[in-house]
Amino acid sequence: MNLDDLYRDVVMDHYKNPRGREPLERVDLHAEGANPSCGDEVGLDLQVEEGRIQKVGVRGRGCAVSTASGSILAEMVEGLTLEEAARVARRMKDALKGEIGPGEIDMGDLEALTGVRKFPVRIKCALLPWVTLLQALLEKEGGP
Ligand code: ZN
Repeated sequence: MNLDDLYRDVVMDHYKNPRGREPLERVDLHAEGANPSCGDEVGLDLQVEEGRIQKVGVRGRGCAVSTASGSILAEMVEGLTLEEAARVARRMKDALKGEIGPGEIDMGDLEALTGVRKFPVRIKCALLPWVTLLQALLEKEGGP
């Protein structure tokens, strides 16, 4: 399957069944982000224990791409330490902006998401949840 087909399949799958939509029992880190050019809004809640992300809650509304990107984020960063999550988010930013090749993100759905680069107006949509995650992580004192 080529990257275009993979991109379409992964985005539609996550858009139809977004992960991370259950409210969290406890919110330790939180950030809100918006992409006015498309009208996407996202709120990210993180439940953190001993420096590790236990659960991710994604709220907000947006287009298929931003919704799918938030869903992929929820799936990918659960179980990671805050440092690891920040590293994934930074790599994702680089990959979406085309600063590194899609092959350098060897992480299943994340790699598929880089297919958005063919649609430049949608790149900001895909970036939004990752930029918001970095904001949430930076909120933490002495965070990564
Ligand atoms: Zn959008």
